[in-house]
This record gives sequence, structure tokens and C-alpha cells, in this order.
Amino acid sequence: MLSATVGSMRSHLYEADHEDFRASVRTFVEKEIAPFHAQWEKDSIVPRELWTAGGEQGFLGIDQDEQYGGGGVRDFRYQAVLAEEMARVGASGVGFGLHNDVVSPYLRDLATEEQKQRWVPGFCSGETITAIAMTEPGTGSDLQGITTTARRDGDGWVLNGSKTFITNGINADLVIVVARTNPDAPASKGTSLLVVERGMAGFERGRNLEKVGLKAQDTAELFFTDVRVPGENLLGTVDRGFLHLMENLPQERLSIAIGAVAAVETVLAQTVEYVTSRTAFGRPVGSFQNSRFVLAELQTEATVARVFVDECIRQLDAGTLTAVDAAQAKWWCSDLQNRVADRCLQLHGGYGYMDEYPVSKAWRDARVQSIYGGTNEIMKEIIGRSMGL
Ligand SMILES: Cc1cc2nc3c(=O)[nH]c(=O)nc-3n(C[C@H](O)[C@H](O)[C@H](O)COP(=O)(O)OP(=O)(O)OC[C@H]3O[C@@H](n4cnc5c(N)ncnc54)[C@H](O)[C@@H]3O)c2cc1C
Repeated sequence: MLSATVGSMRSHLYEADHEDFRASVRTFVEKEIAPFHAQWEKDSIVPRELWTAGGEQGFLGIDQDEQYGGGGVRDFRYQAVLAEEMARVGASGVGFGLHNDVVSPYLRDLATEEQKQRWVPGFCSGETITAIAMTEPGTGSDLQGITTTARRDGDGWVLNGSKTFITNGINADLVIVVARTNPDAPASKGTSLLVVERGMAGFERGRNLEKVGLKAQDTAELFFTDVRVPGENLLGTVDRGFLHLMENLPQERLSIAIGAVAAVETVLAQTVEYVTSRTAFGRPVGSFQNSRFVLAELQTEATVARVFVDECIRQLDAGTLTAVDAAQAKWWCSDLQNRVADRCLQLHGGYGYMDEYPVSKAWRDARVQSIYGGTNEIMKEIIGRSMGL
């Protein structure tokens, strides 16, 4: 059984209610996800029924108001527990994190009453799966360069363009699309968030993209050709889409850091178990000084990461998490996750390269963490700028 904690640094973050919640998530994950995930990796997607099963358990829309079917709790620790328990079984294909941690605040904070009534109940029940589409084939880091446009047409818009690398892209019923609504203004002042729904004429999905890792996650291309988006599907303020993105990106980045630390803890626990049982030269490989030093170094870094991320979670809940702190958490923890996966794979020897050992999947799944949510180079730009550089 893997430990849910590293060292003694953790005990202050979670309370009894969170641990009760953890127990129910763990049961769900072990019963409904772990036995099937390998098949979903082959399918390159998770079934929609998993979403409704998660919705029934109250795992979706934890922070949405109860009147719309949400959990009515604004406490990111619950979402962190969910991410941790998914990471512990390597459930990297289940897009609940994107739905809960990334999309949910847009609906919670920007949707009108009428929009909430239309979208949030399905969001919480798992019948409405969501995605957010910023990245385009020609631009990712430089969001100012997006070319998807929405031209005014009566009380709505006509949307044209394409997006790529969109998480939940195949399953999504509701996609928040970042589009230029004022071509004469810079993107920061002429971009809006438009909600495109499954079935709208001119909205097509492209390939479910084949990837290095996150094999069970549907990551897709989306195409918009003269899609008529009604005025009531504008999310937030017209031409202020960038502002809305900036407000929400710190939570997305912290969510990545939380997943990274949970993955680090899991891989470390699995590796300690492996090096204790595998022998070479008549002794456990974990007893070589190199193995002990490598694992001691990684354990120390894992503890440091955990303490920092826990503090970021507290700050997020207090409304004081800065974009710079979130950027620090995102780059450092995802970088650590990659280092830990790589060094732990090495300690497994040839078995580490075999799919039957979870460390190989952990290594593949880790790779993207320094890329999406803003690359780690962009995180360092944000931090550097805050230092006046
Ligand atoms: C599995 C996966 C899921 C994703 N999910 C989503 C999603 O749901 N929604 C969504 O909108 N996007 C999603 N993305 C896209 C992701 O956010 C982008 O890939 C990422 O922002 C980088 O953009 P890019 O791929 O265009 O790389 P580019 O911007 O072309 O960057 C290429 C390289 O140049 C570097 N670079 C760029 N600008 C600078 C700079 N100013 N200084 C230093 N270096 C720089 C980058 O760090 C990178 O190393 C996903 C991507 C993947 C792989």
C-alpha cells in the first residue's frame, strides 16, 4: 500500500473531511478506474459512463453551487485529493482535472444565471464534458498570435478557425473557445470566450492525436467553419477574454503542480519497493550507496515540493495565490516529476523500460507536464519579469 504522505510535512493541510473524501475517491478509483485504464489507453479515450459515474459520486463541480448540482464547496483541497488519488493509480487519461480545476472556475465566476442553469447541472452530473481551446496549430505560447476569429452577426458571432492539442477534445460537449472578436485591437483587448456546444453546425473534430504519454486521454484537433454562436454563449465580458484567462491560469498551473507532486510520491514509493526486492551481486539493489543517495535526494526534493505546493493550495483558497507563485510551482514540480521518473526508471534497470512496470508509464506521462499549461520556459519568463528582468 502506498503511503499518502511524504515525511511528516503534510499533516497540516488536510482535515478529517478531506480524508473521508479521499477514502471515497480511493474506492471509486480502485473499482471504476484502475482495472480498466490499460484498455482505455489502447482505446485512446475513457468512456463517457465514467464521467457520469464520477458525477454521481459528487466528484465533478465540487466548487459549483449546490442549486445547480454542485458540491457547494470552495476548498481546493478536495480537488487536490482527487488529483492525488488519480495519480496514485496512474489514471492519467481521466480528464476530471481539466474539467474541475481548469474549466469550472470559468463557469462558476463568469457564467450568467441563465448560462449556469443551462450548463452547470450537466457539468456536475458528468453528462456535459468540457474542454478549453486556446492553442492553435500556429501558436501556443504566444497566445497573442491566435487567428481564430468571431465576427459579429446580429446578436451573435460567426466563428472560424482551428484549435489543436485540446484535452477532452473528442468527448467534450461544451468547449470554451478563445477567439478574436475585435481584429483591430491587440489580442489582449480584442479576444473573447465563446462557448461552442456539441452539434453546432460547422463545429467538427479532427484527429484524436497519438501521443508519447497520457494515452487514455483524448487530445484532439477542433475545427470551426462559419459556426453560428448565439450571443447568449458569450462567457464573461466581450473583448476581455485575455483578462479572464489571466485570472484563471494560476489555478490551472497549481493543478499541474499538484498532479506532479502526487506522481513523484507514487513513483518514489514504487521504486523503493522495487529496489528492496530486486537483488544484484547478492544484495538488494537498494542497498548500493548510489541507490540510497539517489532516492534520498529525490525524497528530499519531493518533501520540499510538497511543502511548497501545500502552501500554494492554502494561498489559492485564501485568494492570495499570485501568478508568480503558481508559475514557480508549475515549472519546478513538473521538472522534478520528470527527473524523478527518469532516475527511478534507471533504478529499475531493464524492467523500468518495460510497460509492465508502472515506472515506464510514469516516465511517459511526466513528459508533457513541462509543456502544457504554459511551457516551463514561459513560467520562467513570468518569474523573471516579476524580478524586474
Ligand atoms: C497533451 C497536451 C494537452 C494539451 N491540452 C490543451 C488544452 O486542453 N487546451 C489548450 O488550449 N492547449 C492545450 N495544450 C497545448 C499546450 O498548452 C501548448 O502545447 C503549449 O502552451 C506550448 O505551445 P506550443 O505547443 O505551440 O509550443 P511553442 O509555443 O511553439 O513553443 C516551442 C518551444 O519554444 C519555447 N518558447 C516559446 N516562446 C518562448 C519564449 N518567449 N521564451 C522562451 N522560450 C519560448 C517553448 O517553451 C517551447 O520549448 C495541450 C498540449 C498537450 C501536449
